Amino acid sequence: MTDHSPIALLMELRRNGIADQRVLSAIERTPREVFVDEPFQHSAWENIALPIACGQTISQPYIVAYVTEQLDVQPKHRVLELGTGSGYQAAVLSPLCRMVYTVERHKPLLKQAETRFKALKLENIVTRHGDGLKGWPEQAPFDRILLSAAVPQVPPILIEQLKPGGILIAPVGEPISSERFSQRLTKIIRSEDGIVQNALIPVLYVPMVAGLAQEAQRPDEKDLKR
Ligand code: SAH
Repeated sequence: MTDHSPIALLMELRRNGIADQRVLSAIERTPREVFVDEPFQHSAWENIALPIACGQTISQPYIVAYVTEQLDVQPKHRVLELGTGSGYQAAVLSPLCRMVYTVERHKPLLKQAETRFKALKLENIVTRHGDGLKGWPEQAPFDRILLSAAVPQVPPILIEQLKPGGILIAPVGEPISSERFSQRLTKIIRSEDGIVQNALIPVLYVPMVAGLAQEAQRPDEKDLKR
């Protein structure tokens, strides 16, 4: 039988090049089973993305580890995440920095994530029901910004919310069709005299969608009951 234990996942992440011990221990200490829905409990520690409510996904642990390593988060940092989803990525960031600010456009997802943060006593995560494409200007500037959903290009308004010397990571890419995207994780470093942009690995994130989700119409109700 395949081993889907936390230890097996940690070994797989190491084999795949994740070397930062702080990141590995944050993954180890974050109970992913709390962030996945009931039908997928047995796969919680598998290195795969899984469906969550509202037609979204919880990212693959390798991608969460990779992004977190690339962000180079320090204990004093205030980090902005756009696209809370299940809350897993924010929970992994939580022990590594001073504050995590996370924004989600689907209210039911945000409520569920807030309940999880509370249960795990992750008191340095603050949440906002809002449009991540606008960032969180009232709390800016941030040391680090992470887009947890894909954009065709990084909105300048988000780069403006980054401190000088700050790092922003985003999946950047265009849809190939309504279902498929070609994306690359992109790292932007803001320096005193401009920005430096580097392409990292190819990825597949759900798209960032402008505006708040219209939950009143309840198009996702069946997903919520899953
Ligand atoms: N970080 C999440 C990944 C969730 S998938 C996790 O660890 O589970 C991406 C999330 O981005 C989805 O929940 C989606 O609803 C959200 N999203 C998409 N566009 C958004 C926007 N404009 N503002 C805020 N959240 C957005």
